[in-house]
Amino acid sequence: MDQIPQPLLTRTISLLQRSEHPLLIAHPRPDGDTIGSTLALRLALLELGKQPTVACVDPLPGNLDYLPGAEAFVSEVPEDADIDLVVAIDMSDLKRTGGIYKPSWAGRVPLLVIDHHETNAAFGDVNLVMPQAAATAIPMMTVIEALGASITPDIATCLLVGVLTDTRGLRTTTTTPHVLNVVSKLIEAGGDYQRIMQRTLDAVPYRQMRAWGVALSRLKLEGKIGWTDIPVEAKERLGILDHDDLNLGNLLSHLAEAEIVAAFIEMRDGTVKVSMRARPGYSVSEVAYALGGGGHRQAAGCTLEGPLERIVPLVLSRLHQAANDRDPGC
Ligand code: AMP
Ligand code: MN
Ligand code: MN
Repeated sequence: MDQIPQPLLTRTISLLQRSEHPLLIAHPRPDGDTIGSTLALRLALLELGKQPTVACVDPLPGNLDYLPGAEAFVSEVPEDADIDLVVAIDMSDLKRTGGIYKPSWAGRVPLLVIDHHETNAAFGDVNLVMPQAAATAIPMMTVIEALGASITPDIATCLLVGVLTDTRGLRTTTTTPHVLNVVSKLIEAGGDYQRIMQRTLDAVPYRQMRAWGVALSRLKLEGKIGWTDIPVEAKERLGILDHDDLNLGNLLSHLAEAEIVAAFIEMRDGTVKVSMRARPGYSVSEVAYALGGGGHRQAAGCTLEGPLERIVPLVLSRLHQAANDRDPGC
C-alpha cells in the first residue's frame, strides 16, 4: 500500500540522476511537509554532486526557518534559468507552484511530481503520487534511499518535520504502524525530534496566536459544522500578512462538537483562502476539489474570489451536505 511501484520509482530516479541543475519547488504558504521534503531532496542531490535550486513564492514561516538549507530558498526563478529538471513537491496541480513554474518550460524541461494528494491532477511527465502516504516526506525518503544518498541527520530532520507536521504530531488517521516505523528510523538516523517538537509543532508566533484570538472569538457552531472567518481589517490591525499560514484549520479541528470545520481568511486581493478539516468518517476533499482546490479527506483547502459574505454561505452549504454524507471510504 505504501510501496512505490518499481517502474515509477525507476523513472523518478533516472530523471533525478540525469539532471545536473534541478529546480525543486515547494507550494505557497509553505508547510512543514513541502519545505521538509524539498530540503531533504536538496541535501541528497548535493550529496550526489548536483546543483539544485530550491524555490517557494512565499517566505518560510518562523517555525521552519531553522531547518538545514532554509536560507537557500529563492522566491522567483527567471524564465531563462539554467535548469534541466523541475520537481514539484507536495502539490496537486501546477497552480500550486505559485507562478514559479513558467509555461514555456513545458516540453523543454521535464516535470517530476512527488506528492501524496488524492486530488493530484497528474500534471507532470512523471507523477510519483502516493495518496495513501501520510506525508510527501515518506515517498521522498524512499526516493532518497533509491538515489543512493545516505540519510544524514540533516536529511532525517527535514523528512521528520514533514511527517510530524502533516500528521499533526502523529494524530491523524494516516498515522499507521508504517509511519511510526519511518519516524523511528528517522530518529535513529539522527533526526532531531525534540527540536522539531519545540521549534515547529509547539511554537506559535505571537501574531498568529493573536489571530487565533480573533478567529476563536468569531467561532460559530452550526449543526455538525464549526467555522470562523478573519476579515482583512482584523489582519491589518494585527499585522498579519497574506502569506502567513495561520494554521486555523488545525486549530479548529479540536472543536469537539464539530465533524467538519472551516476557516475563511480574507486576502488583500479580495480572494478568500478556505481551510477545511473533517473528522474520520467525513470528507472535505470533494468540496475543495469541486471549488478548484484540493487536499485530502481529512484536510483540504481552496482559494475563491470574494467577498467573504458571498463565499461563506456558498461553502457552508456544501459542507453541510458533506456532513450529511458519511464517507464510506474512511
Ligand atoms: P491548509 O488548510 O492550507 O492547511 O491545507 C490543507 C490541505 O489542502 C493541504 O494538503 C494543502 O496542500 C491542500 N490545499 C490547500 N489549499 C489548496 C489549494 N488552493 N489548492 C490545492 N490544494 C490545497
Ligand atoms: Mn503541504
Ligand atoms: Mn503534505
